[in-house]
Amino acid sequence: MLFDKFQTMADFQAELAARHVKPFGAVTEKILSATEGVVEGRNVILAGTNNYLGLSFDPRCIKAAQEAAARWGTGTTGSRLANGSFSEHQALETEIAQFYGVDHAIVFSTGYAATMGMCSTLAGPGDTILLDADSHASIYSGVKLSGADIIRFKHNDPEDLAKRMRRLGDRAGQALIIAEGIYSMLGDVAPLQEIAAVKREYGGYLFLDEAHSMGALGETGRGAAQAAGVEADVDFFAGTFSKSLGAIGGFCVSRHAELEAIRFCINAYIFTASSAPSIIASTRAALRIITEEPQLRHKLWDNANRLYDGLKDLGLPVGPTASPVVAVEMEDRSATIECWNALMAAGVYVNLVIPPASPSTNFLLRNSVSAAHTSAQIDTIIAAYAGLITAGLITPTSKAH
Ligand code: PMP
Repeated sequence: MLFDKFQTMADFQAELAARHVKPFGAVTEKILSATEGVVEGRNVILAGTNNYLGLSFDPRCIKAAQEAAARWGTGTTGSRLANGSFSEHQALETEIAQFYGVDHAIVFSTGYAATMGMCSTLAGPGDTILLDADSHASIYSGVKLSGADIIRFKHNDPEDLAKRMRRLGDRAGQALIIAEGIYSMLGDVAPLQEIAAVKREYGGYLFLDEAHSMGALGETGRGAAQAAGVEADVDFFAGTFSKSLGAIGGFCVSRHAELEAIRFCINAYIFTASSAPSIIASTRAALRIITEEPQLRHKLWDNANRLYDGLKDLGLPVGPTASPVVAVEMEDRSATIECWNALMAAGVYVNLVIPPASPSTNFLLRNSVSAAHTSAQIDTIIAAYAGLITAGLITPTSKAH
């Protein structure tokens, strides 16, 4: 039957309902600030958003959005190709290109559309794509649609990438290599110096999704490639407005003038309505803020280090380095659900991640840090995890069960 393949999910939903746990699609009834809300009836610290710089509540972004809605209306009611290209969209494209120091930019309605659209269009039948095995779902969706030959290299393993490039022989020079800056689930960063070196040796084009690293890494917040000093090796940068910039939307920037022709070949750009002017205006304001206020990025890292060190000191199995995403890996689904529920009861909302969204068979309690968190809030999050240990819900070893 058509619906048979959904039975496992239906059973899981029934199990969660029977346990009175709602980790997926938990309803936020009130947003009190960038870091606090009322979720499923509970006052919680938000430790599972991607609001890395806390800009969703910045008064300058809110004001810009309000003014744009008043001036331009609530929506464009059309695609960029037709009636939906307002001067606001063009201004943002100019500004995001300038931010990256390149000449070409495309703004998309979501980050998903940006990566999916670019990855499905850049390579086509007869081309080869090499992508990191832990790539985001939007990248997987895109490469599937592209019709290109798809080769996965081991996560963050430049030697494996080199081996596969070598095997391609002459085709390597035309291949599209896809990686991310900070990976969204474990918070680990791609070894971009080594990946760039592989590209320099074998050729090819590098597409980098900086969704979680833009605003968080690099001297001026351009992301992981800037931090690694390899921006010149990146052909296409993609990213999103829904994380550090506190709104919604996506982008691709490039030094290649061909981006202007590629723009009109991307279904996810042509056949969808453009972003509402209010979104574009708040994103422009946020981009100015991250350019002018590096202290936000420094605060984000203070908080990230504080949370990472706190959870590590408790003996919890976090990743190898501190990052704005701090994930606690667990092996048992039921125990992870119990922990998620206990964290909610302690007033802390985090993300519960299950395979295949997590990169291995493990389950994750995924925390994401914001520059807007106070030190006291970070300490409350750490104390909530300590409570899990006291309650016997999680074992403080390098491997939790
Ligand atoms: N790329 C990566 C790596 C992501 O993590 C995400 C969102 N989680 C996206 C793209 C899509 O961005 P958006 O949610 O803004 O559509």
